[in-house]
Amino acid sequence: MTSMIDPFGRAVTYLRVSVTDRCDFRCIYCMAEDMTFLPKAEVLSLEELDRLCSAFVRRGVRKLRLTGGEPLVRRNVMSLIRGLGRHLKTGDLEELTLTSNGSQLARFADELVDAGVRRINVSLDTLDPDRFEAITRWGKLDKVMEGIEAARRAGLHVKINTVALKNFNEDELDRMIEFCGANGFDMTLIETMPLGEIDQDRTDQYLPLSQVRERLESTWTLTDIPYKTGGPARYTEIAETGRKLGFITPLTHNFCEGCNRVRLTCTGTLYMCLGQDDAADLRAPLRASEADELLDAAIDEAIGRKPKGHDFVIERRGEGPAVGRHMSVTGG
Ligand code: SAM
Ligand code: SF4
Repeated sequence: MTSMIDPFGRAVTYLRVSVTDRCDFRCIYCMAEDMTFLPKAEVLSLEELDRLCSAFVRRGVRKLRLTGGEPLVRRNVMSLIRGLGRHLKTGDLEELTLTSNGSQLARFADELVDAGVRRINVSLDTLDPDRFEAITRWGKLDKVMEGIEAARRAGLHVKINTVALKNFNEDELDRMIEFCGANGFDMTLIETMPLGEIDQDRTDQYLPLSQVRERLESTWTLTDIPYKTGGPARYTEIAETGRKLGFITPLTHNFCEGCNRVRLTCTGTLYMCLGQDDAADLRAPLRASEADELLDAAIDEAIGRKPKGHDFVIERRGEGPAVGRHMSVTGG
């Protein structure tokens, strides 16, 4: 099988899959409070998701990240994860990983390790229980902290993802860096991205990471390191803790030239770029035949349309989001 090379010579080796658009939280920058979720009939079954992911692995994907919505709230998701683990055993897949809000991790950490998962990204924007409840609209911090601890105990490498939000967690970032340092976690700071209608204007929350970094450097010694994942993160090492600190700045930096990824939604729509609306439907060719020829042809056609880059801007106050879909559709 030929590997997937896009028109700009970039090999697609990383697939991110949103296994559900549903979530047990409603983070204010991510979702509206009264989100309408997809009818179940539109969502791919776990068997269909396995078949799709496996088609990508056959075509050269080496890293698979399950996300959402909250991947661990999808019923029976462990059967999908265990099934995909077979590609790790054959060596076709290098890494199977997840991005999670941590709420279900206490229950699943051991099983994840058993299935071959070695690393997990957990989103955590604050260490204050009241703030946590406010930002997630009803999440309980202690449950997430239990989940993170269970993941650590199970031997998972944890990376904490934190969205930097103006007037919300700016004053806590030092404490979070200490927390990550004490527990052996790397950390990544994320800028808010204009994805999907929410209940407020995102320009109110937008905090440029250039500014955050400058402030952090008055306390911490940050050294740029060449570590790259083919995504929008640039990494530093914190001398005082020995851990990595990443900065994801899709709005202020161009990271597209090294892009190695595509994103699949739980309805089988493939987005070739997080910041563009163009997409390809893979559900129809998947369902049209039990053989994979139609699917392979649709994947080739889609990769042939992967754009050179994105065009996010978040400067005009009061305008709608740059991209209509929510982050929970493609999982970030
Ligand atoms: N529910 C899981 C979680 O929270 O980790 C996985 C899905 S969530 C959509 C993936 C990541 O996207 C989280 O780290 C979240 O903070 C981030 N995110 C969601 N909406 C965002 C936005 N508009 N801008 C930047 N990051 C966002
Ligand atoms: Fe759910 Fe993750 Fe979005 Fe928060 S960021 S609402 S946890 S999908």
